[in-house]
Amino acid sequence: MNYRHIYHAGNFADVVKHAILALCLEHLKLKDAPFRVIDTHAGIGRYDLAGVEAGKTLEFSDGIGRLIGVDAAPIPPAVAEPLAPYIEIVRKLNAGESLSLYPGSPEIAAQALRREDRLVVNELHPADHATLAATYAGDRRVKVMALDAWTALKALLPPPERRGLVLIDPPFEDRAEFEKLAAGLADARQRFATGTLILWYPVKDPATVAAFYRAIGGLALDKTLRAELLVRAPSDASKLNGCGLFIVNPPWTLKDKLTALLPFLAERLAKGAGAEHRLEGSA
Ligand code: SAM
Repeated sequence: MNYRHIYHAGNFADVVKHAILALCLEHLKLKDAPFRVIDTHAGIGRYDLAGVEAGKTLEFSDGIGRLIGVDAAPIPPAVAEPLAPYIEIVRKLNAGESLSLYPGSPEIAAQALRREDRLVVNELHPADHATLAATYAGDRRVKVMALDAWTALKALLPPPERRGLVLIDPPFEDRAEFEKLAAGLADARQRFATGTLILWYPVKDPATVAAFYRAIGGLALDKTLRAELLVRAPSDASKLNGCGLFIVNPPWTLKDKLTALLPFLAERLAKGAGAEHRLEGSA
């Protein structure tokens, strides 16, 4: 396990993932019934953007920095509403207009929780697990685990609340990760048919992504959204050219919100010619 998210925190892929995660969480809060969030690949929760690791790559400057960094153009009113749940959480973590801390998915979820809601954050890397456990030690709504993510899915689903969201966000250190993601989706769907499932994947080579969608085609999922963003044309498959989220049982309002948001993000986060978005699905 070589991957450490601190080198990538707040990059364009985090912006897309976390903006959509925050929208899904907002929707869950519209009903009083408690919900549970399960984050299978959690990372450390909060990231120091002023630290050595983030400073080595500066990936955040082409991600969250393009939205609220000191040189960032204002956010247009047309996308202020779909971006608000995400931006509010980033701002809350930082004093005033500064940008020195970044909320990972556990923090986005923890900020959204109400008193009766629960969050399970799972992280296998020993050092990152220890940091995550220390960060949320004082929050009784949050349980920190160190299982293999694919075992965690089996152990934790369905949640006792029978309401909630599962985020599956692997590091994609090897090509087999797409196969594991497809198998994990089948498993999660079977155990928690009514839950919102959010799967993140990289877009390096579009053919690999197409093979993933063919592999899950047999699952006959009826309410889904596929949201992708390319920061450049995917002509060099060694680069992270874009990312995608596959969402099962998305909030019914999500497609409209992403119809407004994704074209803006594709333009604002672009790194070269061919930046574009894709949004399709049955929900
Ligand atoms: N979800 C986080 C966020 O959005 O802030 C980022 C997670 S990062 C992309 C993937 C994480 O999964 C890494 O911290 C890595 O250590 C962890 N990981 C890798 N393989 C794992 C496994 N089999 N089970 C659990 N965690 C794993």
